[in-house]
Amino acid sequence: MSKLTPVLSAHWDEKDSFTIEAYTRHGGYAASKKALAMDPDAVIQMVKDSGLRGRGGAGFPTGMKWGFIPQGDNKEHYLVVNADESEPGTCKDTPLLMANPHVLIEGCIIACHAIRAKRAFIYIRGEVTHVVRRVNAAIADAYKAGHLGNGIDVTLHIGAGAYICGEETALLDSLEGFRGQPRLRPPFPAIAGLYARPTVVNNVESIASVPAIIANGAEWYQSFGTEKSKGMTLYSLSGHVNNPGQFEAPLGITLREILELAGGIRTGHTLKFWTPGGSSTPIFTDAHLDTPLDYEGVSAAGSMLGTKALQIFDETTCVVRAVLRWTEFYKHESCGKCTPCREGTWWLVQILRDLENGTGTEADLDKLLDLCDNIMGRSFCALGDGATSPITSSIKYFRDEYIAHLTNGGCPFDPVKSTLFAGALNS
Ligand code: SF4
Repeated sequence: MSKLTPVLSAHWDEKDSFTIEAYTRHGGYAASKKALAMDPDAVIQMVKDSGLRGRGGAGFPTGMKWGFIPQGDNKEHYLVVNADESEPGTCKDTPLLMANPHVLIEGCIIACHAIRAKRAFIYIRGEVTHVVRRVNAAIADAYKAGHLGNGIDVTLHIGAGAYICGEETALLDSLEGFRGQPRLRPPFPAIAGLYARPTVVNNVESIASVPAIIANGAEWYQSFGTEKSKGMTLYSLSGHVNNPGQFEAPLGITLREILELAGGIRTGHTLKFWTPGGSSTPIFTDAHLDTPLDYEGVSAAGSMLGTKALQIFDETTCVVRAVLRWTEFYKHESCGKCTPCREGTWWLVQILRDLENGTGTEADLDKLLDLCDNIMGRSFCALGDGATSPITSSIKYFRDEYIAHLTNGGCPFDPVKSTLFAGALNS
């Protein structure tokens, strides 16, 4: 376990880790006290120096984002925490909030002070009612203890469960009471965000990482990770592995190392393909086991670190079936605002269904790639682009398997053996 560096997850195995008593017992709320005594610009500089990058997928430097908020403009500023975790395979913010909601609240206090905001909104998915209850209880305890309510307030907002509301501007529209659809940029949220006021939107894990940086210093944080990807992060491991779960490790660890910590691929089976950052990132194969899982390493190998959702599939899994399943998800979640994504994802599903059922033709593969080419870079937001990633990458690595469906007259895999998709498809 020496490769693990638990900071966010340090006390998750304690029975009362989510309580304010446990949090303060481990030094909680000392970092916000320290930050509140600092000049806000010095707090921003410390976060910039730490090298912390957004943990929600894009990897944008957090301190730099905070620095974009105009100062002395006599406007309200807002912090919005994106807790609308919904990328398939991603399950890091939910356990973090269940095990230690106070680290997020303390991070909100520090971030609000830094960007001179009086209020933070936490936008969370309505489906996760257990998390909603826990965070609400933690906010109430933080008010009772006097950590909130003295110039900084935190409000929990419950969304209705649309994938698109994880996109920051759609989230802002939803928070304002409108239908959640992405906004045209510019203006960017730092200039005109929530209620047209300067707003920082950060992921749960990004804000939760801040108290440890303030407490231990930027140099301490910089000592973890790789040259350009600093610190430690939560990797979510799921699928055909013996011990799935969250693994907090320095950026740059490899899948081979995480698999060792997780007891390996399920016994008697071998790795076939995996996602490095959720289903909207191009898939990898066993040839990428030693790719450093940091922003640069994954990008150089042709994919994206995304939300660090490592979904593992062994040799019993049909890649066409897996890709169809993800594409059905994107079709369902397309917000309908732009034609390439709204119409394109519908067509992608039709063609993939034909291929999976063995009723397509080899020309359909080129049609799929052509469709992807017309969606990628032509959609209004990243959902459209993301929908094409599993398709293009799976054809690149597993074209023969697509062809085998045609020559076989149907899927050559027994879905029951894969254990992941049995009975789950509606095709
Ligand atoms: Fe909506 Fe899809 Fe267009 Fe994004 S890409 S704006 S989700 S239709």
